[in-house]
Amino acid sequence: MQETRQKGREVKNLIGGRWEEGNGRATEPVYDPATGEVVAETPLSTAEDLNRAVEKADEAFPRWAATPVVERARVLFRFKMLLEEHSEELRDLVTLENGKDFKDAAGEVRRGIEVVEFACGMPTLMMGETVRDVARGVDNASYRYPLGVVAAITPFNFPCMVPLWTLPVAIGAGNAYILKPSERTPLSAVRLGELLQEAGLPDGVFNIVNGAREAVDAILEHPGIKAVSFVGSKPVAEHVYKGGTAHGKRVQALAGAKNSMIVLPDVVLDKAVDNIIASAYGNAGERCLAGSVLVAVGEIADPLVAALKEKAVAMKVGPGKEEGSELTPVIRDSHREKVRQYVDVGEEEGAEVVLDGREPPLEEGFFMGPTILDHVTGEMRVGREEIFGPVLSVVRVDSLDEAIEFNNGSPFGNACSIFTENGAAVRHWRENVEAGMLGVNVGVAAPMAFFPFNGIKDSFFGDLHATGKDGVRFFTENKVEITRWFSEPGPSSAVKRPVEDGG
Ligand code: NAD
Repeated sequence: MQETRQKGREVKNLIGGRWEEGNGRATEPVYDPATGEVVAETPLSTAEDLNRAVEKADEAFPRWAATPVVERARVLFRFKMLLEEHSEELRDLVTLENGKDFKDAAGEVRRGIEVVEFACGMPTLMMGETVRDVARGVDNASYRYPLGVVAAITPFNFPCMVPLWTLPVAIGAGNAYILKPSERTPLSAVRLGELLQEAGLPDGVFNIVNGAREAVDAILEHPGIKAVSFVGSKPVAEHVYKGGTAHGKRVQALAGAKNSMIVLPDVVLDKAVDNIIASAYGNAGERCLAGSVLVAVGEIADPLVAALKEKAVAMKVGPGKEEGSELTPVIRDSHREKVRQYVDVGEEEGAEVVLDGREPPLEEGFFMGPTILDHVTGEMRVGREEIFGPVLSVVRVDSLDEAIEFNNGSPFGNACSIFTENGAAVRHWRENVEAGMLGVNVGVAAPMAFFPFNGIKDSFFGDLHATGKDGVRFFTENKVEITRWFSEPGPSSAVKRPVEDGG
């Protein structure tokens, strides 16, 4: 593998407003998945680095929390304008470090900006509640307060959007924030940090501590961190949830997925096929909302698999920055190997390999071809484990109830889609399916920024989800006040009675 270092992509920590060099720390290479070249090195921060970040965040917190919410929101408005101005540059960074195509990368940046727009409404979102006269002359009210220093640990597959799921809300609510980006995709986060500085965010309110396991464990153990937001795979989510809560922290941990797409016989076939292809193979299948299992109900299975195969075969495999690329590389060579092994396992378990993408279609980079496994069952590993690559498993069932039963047999509960024009069937499915995000004729059921990103079962550990009002609740706590006054209003505040003129 060629390992030429690209200049000008320094991955530094941001601590208390200062960009810090790696100072000889061990590093992890960052690859361009489309070429296999090393484009940067991520410093693997130590617990000592994390401690300094917490110290600086803790120093910055009281002033930031005391800054009026309208002023905090103004920083977010400026940040939003800068994100718009630099959106193409951010898109290019996402494509460089993650490999996804320009359209997906631009979509990711847009979705991130939408969370900033949501958080610009923080004066409204921070509103408490009041009830006057709960007893004679007694009022009850609640006020929202930031928590203090909070942290987020993010995955490789959305290096710009996932940090933006929480950082605008957390800092808009008055917290000081530490980001630990994926060591595989740290570049977008650096740019976000620079733009936040340009937007006028005070030093220490936003910090970046790059690294991997050691930095994560230091976050979980640090008594100064009040809340941790995690997004990543299920085993690490569980580790973060257990470790964080055992140390008295509030934790939300968004985890892995195995999403079903159920197709009924009355489907509008060509439209569904386009959606299914985009869901299964977009971003090389590396989305937590990727449709990974197609559950075909009844006689639709044969025409559906034939149409999918025809489309998939015709997909243009290529680098994300090249116009027309439809299937982009996976994140690492080691990950490609893991995905290939899943196809081997599926074949051994009795699945039919209708389309085989194991042979790399391009010499450079970490590409795979699109793969379709047919006649998969819930007992097979390829039918129930997250593969996170361009592999679509097809399960054949006789009824909608069987399809729902298949879906509900999964330990995961992130998303489920249904393709049909039958409203009653959709209602039946919605009432019985176990998944937190539902798509009706929509293959990637991503909620907008003002709704929670809503996985259930093993796809989520915690109580309050990221984004939407859940996010505001996660990053704030309430004081509930009950008030009464013993004295009558004095003469200085005596209330004038309106002149009795009949008006
Ligand atoms: P990952 O779990 O490998 O890494 C996520 C974060 O955890 C990274 O910052 C990483 O440095 C850290 N980490 C990794 N191993 C660790 C360990 N042993 N101890 C402590 N920290 C560790 O996830 P990934 O491969 O970067 O991302 C893909 C996964 O994320 C998939 O499972 C996908 O479904 C999931 N994901 C879920 C959502 C959601 O909303 N539910 C969204 C995006 C991605």
